[in-house]
Amino acid sequence: MRILMVEDERALAETVRRGLRIEGFIVDIAHDGVSGLTAATDNAYDVVLLDLMLPLKNGYDVLKELRQRKIWTPVLMLTAKDGEYDQTDAFDLGADDYLTKPFSFRVLVARIRALIRRGAPERPVVLTLGTLTMDPVNRRVRRGDSVISLTAREYGLLEYLMRRHDQIVSKAEILDHVWDPAFEGADNVVEVYVGYLRRKIDAPFGLQSLRTVRGMGYLLSADPTPAAAAGAPPQT
Ligand code: CA
Repeated sequence: MRILMVEDERALAETVRRGLRIEGFIVDIAHDGVSGLTAATDNAYDVVLLDLMLPLKNGYDVLKELRQRKIWTPVLMLTAKDGEYDQTDAFDLGADDYLTKPFSFRVLVARIRALIRRGAPERPVVLTLGTLTMDPVNRRVRRGDSVISLTAREYGLLEYLMRRHDQIVSKAEILDHVWDPAFEGADNVVEVYVGYLRRKIDAPFGLQSLRTVRGMGYLLSADPTPAAAAGAPPQT
């Protein structure tokens, strides 16, 4: 298994390379974003470890350009705890996982193995749920022919719900997957964002595809109920 590590902290890169070699991986290192992008484009890696803050081109731009080139190698983003970027943005741009620095080497190896097991299948270009579509490459969401404009966070929430459509998803699961694991904001943040989403994907179309299941969580349905049906009470 061949891994590309794009990391400008040379000592860290070398330490990780030595450790991964012992685990049986072949590791190539790039020290800046431009050479990292070239290496990831020109070679078939099993996983790319991508630092966020990099010289010449930051990790987000490397990832974005990689996906625009239709290269779906699993990417594990390495982010700093106090980074100026939001980790969920990494998911929006197509990162498969992320780790916050400083990370434990054991955890890194476990995450790499998980990504390799999952592999890099040809991804569907567009996620579809009834009349709702989401194109992860250009991040465009539509209901029928109408383009819906979402913020990065709304997009991350919708993508999570679309990938788990027709299942009840708890607030805790949403917080875990869409927000930073260390998120310590108001606990009603999920409700607030569910409300934002409804106003964009449902209300203008007279639909209720994103429903609250009292005491359990949320359910995004492929077969949305018209809002007027059965005199459903307004949902919050
Ligand atoms: Ca860095």
